[in-house]
Formats: sequence, structure tokens, C-alpha cells
Amino acid sequence: MTGTDAAPRHQWRGVIEEYRELLDIPQDTPAVTLGEGGTPLVESLWLSEVTGGSIWLKVEGNNPTGSFKDRGMTTALSVAVHQGAKAVVCASTGNTSASMSAYAAKARIKPIVLVPEGKISAGKMAQAIMHGAQVIMVRGNFDDCLTLSRGLAEDYPVALVNSVNPMRLEGQKTASFEVIDRLGDAPDYHLLPVGNAGNISAYWLGYKQYADLGRATKRPVMRAYQAEGASPLVTGKPFPNPETKATAIRIGNPASWKLAEAAAAESHGRFASVTDEQILAAQFQLSSNDGVFVEPASAAGIAGLLQDLERGESYAGKTVVITVTGHGLKDTVTALEGFGDVVDNVVDVSVEDAAAAAGLT
Ligand SMILES: *Cc1c(COP(=O)(O)O)cnc(C)c1O
Repeated sequence: MTGTDAAPRHQWRGVIEEYRELLDIPQDTPAVTLGEGGTPLVESLWLSEVTGGSIWLKVEGNNPTGSFKDRGMTTALSVAVHQGAKAVVCASTGNTSASMSAYAAKARIKPIVLVPEGKISAGKMAQAIMHGAQVIMVRGNFDDCLTLSRGLAEDYPVALVNSVNPMRLEGQKTASFEVIDRLGDAPDYHLLPVGNAGNISAYWLGYKQYADLGRATKRPVMRAYQAEGASPLVTGKPFPNPETKATAIRIGNPASWKLAEAAAAESHGRFASVTDEQILAAQFQLSSNDGVFVEPASAAGIAGLLQDLERGESYAGKTVVITVTGHGLKDTVTALEGFGDVVDNVVDVSVEDAAAAAGLT
């Protein structure tokens, strides 16, 4: 069905149809899909040169709603609808709500979204609204929104689709399958940003499953990066007031804390933190060196690799996959913050003036 030796013979059908027999979901579940997954694994020539290794970017911004959340949402929504759900709810820092709302629209059920007041990027908010979600702002942070969502799902007929729903991880683990299908084996290292910690848990599930099936000879070392102002997995204590410009990982008490710790421990990996300055610098470097524009949170893995190098770590000769989790267009305000007047070259309609302004003369 898939594999490095087989040229693609068909249009990508979404992660459920591509990997159905490997997913622990009721096997007769019809897929609610927008064609998620099958995202590019792009070599970072910049980082390969810098490290002397082979550095690959798993570009998850290419999913239908612009983040990896779609992988888990196709499974969560498909199973919820199959079990009769008429409404779904989630807490979100933005991307979960964008994704859930799109898949709920596709399934023609009601999306209810709980977001921290004033902390969602305009792009992500537009997505939820355009997909017809009932958006509720909460005077609190993401962790408060998650507590509320759990409460709603307990007391009312709505299905909770945050990553505490195990169906989410089943879909998200397909990213590991795709990495191995593309590279022919697991990488030596896998780096990624961590917020609520569902994604690292899902990747580890996927890597273990493919190794157990004999489709990979090894499992990667998992290295996960949090924003300094929201780094409970690094300090070992919840952050009551998490703060970072990387809003998608602005989470103080990760729901999948235990699973994430197990992934790091079993893989001989670790958690580390990076500052907002490092994250935003890495975001710009990645965009300008590799042509891959990601949102701030998504650059945490890049910032982490650069920090590891500064601290004397070597990735020379190693194969490294870095997940860049979401698209840069979701939050252009934060991206442009450091740039002042973005375009201050204004010229009359003159080739000479334009050439001078372009630095060609
Ligand atoms: C959700 C999200 C994360 C964090 O993933 P977790 O599974 O919560 O650890 C990172 N980056 C982006 C863009 C996200 O949407």
C-alpha cells in the first residue's frame, strides 16, 4: 500500500484509509477525512550543512487546516460520529479548534470550542468561525479550558476530542509511519516541540509499532523542546501561569505528561527549554534559509537543535527528523513583530529607482 520502493500509484486518501489496519480504532468506522497526512519530508540543506548530518523537516503545516492536529482529528471525529455523537467539544490554544471545527463541518455535527480569552491568533480564530464553531472565550488559560471541556463532556451529550481522547493519538502516530516509509528506516533522532504532550506520545507509539512490525530496525531518540515560560516537563512542576509567544505550546500542565515522560525515558531522550527569542530567531532562519514558514511554536525543535549545537552536542553523520508542527500563515502578527516597517522601500514608477532600491546598482 505504501513504501519507499513503490511509486505513488494513487491519490493520498487520508491517514485512516492509508493505514487503517495499523490503527486501534473500530475497524468498521467510516472515515471523516479532508485528505490529511502524506505531508512532505523536506531535507533542510541549511541544517544538514550546519550539523554535518542529514536533517529532515516533517512539514505538518501542509495538512488541510495547517497543523498536525488534523491527523488525530480524522480518527477522533470518525469514531465519535460512528458512535452517534451530534456535537464535539475541545479546549484549544487555536489549532485543535481550527481542526476540530473543519472535521465537524465535514461530518455535519456541531463544534463547540473553548479558548483562552485574547490568546488565540487571528488566523486560527478565523478558521474556527468560518467552519461554523460555537466559540466560547474563557477567562483562564488552556489548562482551565481543558478542565471545562472535560466537565461539559461528562455532564452533556458532547464528545471530547482533546488528545486525552485516545483516538487522537491513533491518528497522530501515522506521522512516524510516514517518516519510516519515506526514509526506509527510523531516524537516529526525532526532535519536536511539546505543549500538551500528545504529539510526542503519538510519535513514540508509531515508532514502536513499526519497529515491532519489522518495518524499522531501530527507534529514534526523542528530544522534545518547550518554551521556557511553559516548560513543566523540564522543571518537573506544573506552571500555573504559562507565558510564551509560541501560543500553541503555552500549556502549564500537559495532559499526556506521563506518556511523554515514558517516551523520553524509553528512547533515552530528554526535554529541554528554549527562550522565545531563540524560537522567533529560529522561525526566521528556517523561513529564509529553507523556504519553510512555520508558526512560532513549530520552530521550537529548530531552536532546540541550534541550542544543542551551541552546548557542544554533535549531530554529525546522524539522520535527524524535526517536526515543524504548523503553518506560518496562522500567526503573521507574531512573525512580523520584530521587523518594524516591513516594507519601507517606496519608489516612483522608474526602472532605475527600482533597481537602486533593489540594490542592483
Ligand atoms: C498542538 C501544537 C503543538 C503541541 O503539540 P502537543 O501534542 O500539544 O504537545 C505544537 N505546535 C503546534 C503548531 C500545535 O498546534
